[in-house]
Amino acid sequence: MERAESLVRDNPFIELRLDYLAQPLAALPKLKSFVELHPEVTFIATCRRVVNGGKFKGSIANQLTILRKAADAGFPLVDLELQSAESMKEAELRDLWDRVGLILSYHNFRGTKKLDETFAQMSKYPADFYKVVSTATNLYDNVVMMKFLEKNSGRHEMVGVCMGEQGIISRVLGVRAGSVFTFAAATKGEETAPGQVTASDLRDVYRIEMVEQATQVYGVVGDPIAHSLSPVMMNAAFRRETVNAVYLALHAKTLKDLLACVQHIPIRGLSVTMPYKQEMLDALENSDALTRQIGSCNTVVRGADGKLYGFNTDVAGIVVPLEQRMSLAGAKILIVGAGGAARAAAFGLKARGAEVHITNRTPQRGQTLARQAKTKYLKRTDVAKQQFDVIINATPVGMNGSKQSPLEEKELNTKYVFDLVYTPAETKLVKMARAKNIQVIPGLEMFVQQGARQFEIWTGKPAPIAEMAYVVIKALERRAAEEAAEENGLEKKSPSKKTARKPAKAARKR
Ligand code: NAP
Repeated sequence: MERAESLVRDNPFIELRLDYLAQPLAALPKLKSFVELHPEVTFIATCRRVVNGGKFKGSIANQLTILRKAADAGFPLVDLELQSAESMKEAELRDLWDRVGLILSYHNFRGTKKLDETFAQMSKYPADFYKVVSTATNLYDNVVMMKFLEKNSGRHEMVGVCMGEQGIISRVLGVRAGSVFTFAAATKGEETAPGQVTASDLRDVYRIEMVEQATQVYGVVGDPIAHSLSPVMMNAAFRRETVNAVYLALHAKTLKDLLACVQHIPIRGLSVTMPYKQEMLDALENSDALTRQIGSCNTVVRGADGKLYGFNTDVAGIVVPLEQRMSLAGAKILIVGAGGAARAAAFGLKARGAEVHITNRTPQRGQTLARQAKTKYLKRTDVAKQQFDVIINATPVGMNGSKQSPLEEKELNTKYVFDLVYTPAETKLVKMARAKNIQVIPGLEMFVQQGARQFEIWTGKPAPIAEMAYVVIKALERRAAEEAAEENGLEKKSPSKKTARKPAKAARKR
């Protein structure tokens, strides 16, 4: 009750999962007082049975009793599964429907299949809302769900969403396709369905309340993608510049799946991340010469002709922070690494007149890049003998808790170290550089600048760089605090057991 009380202020539409209570019936008198105390809130009572993916172990008759009592207690809406409705007498179902608003629901925890057949079965029964929840096993399942909603929402009050990390498109765009409302977790760690985002993220990051037909859709595609900070940064930029657009995290297991999805959802632009930067280039209609030289594309835009065009804004991500500090013509720069980021750095810096050197774990790959970009290859054993203006780390060494550095202390003979790694902010390399009084350019600057350039390509407006940097820094601080708390064993509630008992699913009414 305390948790529910803390939620009602910000959430005028709340589902209480009575099946998470040990004794739902015994709780109803208290719930009645609570509902009466909050007439401004629309409450849904749900008591989902175990066989249908819930926690309630009782019979259908007991479930019906609980939902009836919930109706009598003042809940304006109850949720009943199709499977329970099928086992009830017609008169019992009609009686429930007479008492209370009825959401008839169907959940598929394995896939998004046979939606029409399921709905044909559901529509035999009377209900105020028909709720179909499936699981997205690929991005295209979102398209299937949205087409289903578009088809049926003219004749019925539909609610539809895909669960799973790949279902985010349907959570944000489902309302646009005709879902009357959607579901979100009350707070982080209290998700009651896989892939659920929090109500505050749906509102504040994805701005679901303003998503409408004219809203342009953008996204970041990769595998994995859950930890990407691009949605936080780019949605903040759209909000700041009042661009009617939403930016989603698209977890594509294959590029083919993404491209099929892009055909049906009019996605205006994409940020591309690992592992698709090269593959994407081959799939595009066209791209600029520098992007083709680099051989990797991190930005896609849909042209006025409907075709997809590729760009590489990693170059700007590297060049702009350096140009803000020095003239690149003649600057002596060492790039450590020969992958996608190193290629963007090598071609971009060479074009600005810098004297570029490359070293790499696999010498042959480094030598190939040096030859292609018309720069120099430096043997690792020679690095310590040289003095540089800038050393750029374009390897993942130092990322995510790895306490390693790509170079040794004696090799850091430079004015600046630019570590492209930005999680964590203080890598071993950064610490070593600071200890030697070397100036540090954090990887965050690249992240913000490459995103800023994307924003400009997509919208034609200058990017709100300060705002973008601010939200990313805040998100990184939150993440670091969560990780520290987790390491100390203090936090990180799982949705299981203790926390899951606390009813928690705030629904967003449109
Ligand atoms: P990539 O294409 O996979 O290339 C990775 C490079 O790092 C390769 O040259 C590889 O050497 C080298 N490498 C990998 N593990 C190593 C190790 N343990 N020791 C020494 N060298 C190692 O990756 P990428 O796309 O270029 O990205 C590289 C890093 O840049 C990412 O991990 C990320 O941290 C950073 N990045 C940051 C931004 C940003 O916005 N700040 C954007 C893009 C990338 P081999 O050739 O020997 O395999």
